[in-house]
Amino acid sequence: MDEIRNLWNAARENLRELLTANDFDRWLSPIRPSVIKGNKIFLAVDNDFFRDWLANNYKSLIVEALRSAGASDGFEVEFFVQTSPEDPPPSADLIEKKIHEHKRRGPKTQVLNSTLNPMNTFENFVVGPSNSFAHGAAYAVAQSPGKAYNPLFIYGGTGLGKTHLIQAVGHRVQDLPGTKVCYTTTETLLNEYVQSITEKTTIEFRNKYRSVDLLIIDDIHFLAGKNAIQEEFFHTFNALHMSGKQIIITSDRPANEITGLEQRLVSRFEWGLVTQLEMPDFETRLAILRYKQSAAKIRLTDAILSFIAENVKTNIRTLEGALMRAISFVSINKTVELTIDRLRILLKDLLDKEQEKDITVDEIQKTVAEHYGIRLNDMTSKKRPQCVALPRQVAMFLSRKLTRKALSEIAQAFEKTHATILHACTTTQDRMETDPDMRESIRTITRKLKRDPLAFDL
Ligand code: ADP
Ligand code: MG
Repeated sequence: MDEIRNLWNAARENLRELLTANDFDRWLSPIRPSVIKGNKIFLAVDNDFFRDWLANNYKSLIVEALRSAGASDGFEVEFFVQTSPEDPPPSADLIEKKIHEHKRRGPKTQVLNSTLNPMNTFENFVVGPSNSFAHGAAYAVAQSPGKAYNPLFIYGGTGLGKTHLIQAVGHRVQDLPGTKVCYTTTETLLNEYVQSITEKTTIEFRNKYRSVDLLIIDDIHFLAGKNAIQEEFFHTFNALHMSGKQIIITSDRPANEITGLEQRLVSRFEWGLVTQLEMPDFETRLAILRYKQSAAKIRLTDAILSFIAENVKTNIRTLEGALMRAISFVSINKTVELTIDRLRILLKDLLDKEQEKDITVDEIQKTVAEHYGIRLNDMTSKKRPQCVALPRQVAMFLSRKLTRKALSEIAQAFEKTHATILHACTTTQDRMETDPDMRESIRTITRKLKRDPLAFDL
């Protein structure tokens, strides 16, 4: 009991330094440390809303704070609801049962608008060349919903600001008098849909989504292969679009690259404006770091900020994580200077991950050709015998999985069409699931490419 209390108190002080007094009092103060079991740390809160809010918005910060406070490696944080704070903490087993129960049931039907993160505003969004087009489009939609671009379709890799940008529109439109905004993730939408079928409330489900002025659906790629909801969503889309209501959608890839998405939805998603978010360049990354730092009380040197901006290139979420780590280090170790060498150690796992991301299609083609004993130019040839075609498909699959190249660039590198690449990906994925030899080959190649004897997380 003392162990968790001490750990939490240290982490809390750390968080107090990081957050504004307002945010700290509202979100962090009410958390109660409960129990530690194995590598799990259980934190109690008063209600469902708090639990979901913390899990969605503060979990990584809390994890970083606990890590700095000395929590053991690889620990996890779980929030659970305990309605009467005076009660002694329940046993870890009971809490786990509760959490499991909650996850099994899925989230409850959410009140409209309840999930807009107050931090995700236009004011907090740093604009640079990588996102200025998407930002401009989102801004225009916020000014005149239903009129500028409908639908607005924003795609891009994870952690590049999709959710932030569309929620910024949500905030703006919500402030217009008499408008109804609904933000939902595709996952929630799916859960609600399934629930509405079992509870025979599909009419309510339908009405809810058809009665809004702005419908924002995040991460639509999760609709892939879910036919019944695609049908339902198709009609919702039409109903809203016809009555001039605004629709905003995000995805991790362009609509025509989502395998298992009905063609009629793909074409509707392309009716309005399609725009991409990319990883910001160095200057914008630095501007984001400066901006985020201004919300904390700690000041880092320019050298430290530049080092982070220079080395974290995959996504903005990781960029923020690195900044938070540096800030917590400085706030805890008041007498130790944060040098670049110390920072390198502090961020080692993040920097290692960054490195491994830099695999090129070239390297993949070479390594795969070597593995299967075929010639490198068989990778781009038109020959079809299985002994060449199969390795080629593996290389295409790995290029999709291990590089951040766009489909068109990969297609070009193999001198093939988009469709051929996508087909190669599904075929290889299927083979990998049924054929242990195939799986082993891909494992070996992946490890070689990542120069890591244990890596295998495709
Ligand atoms: P995605 O939905 O694309 O995975 P998010 O919108 O969740 O990404 O963004 C990840 C994090 O990066 C969030 O904390 C978000 O506030 C921040 N972020 C992304 N883009 C910007 C930006 N241009 N300026 C400031 N913060 C950003
Ligand atoms: Mg998102």
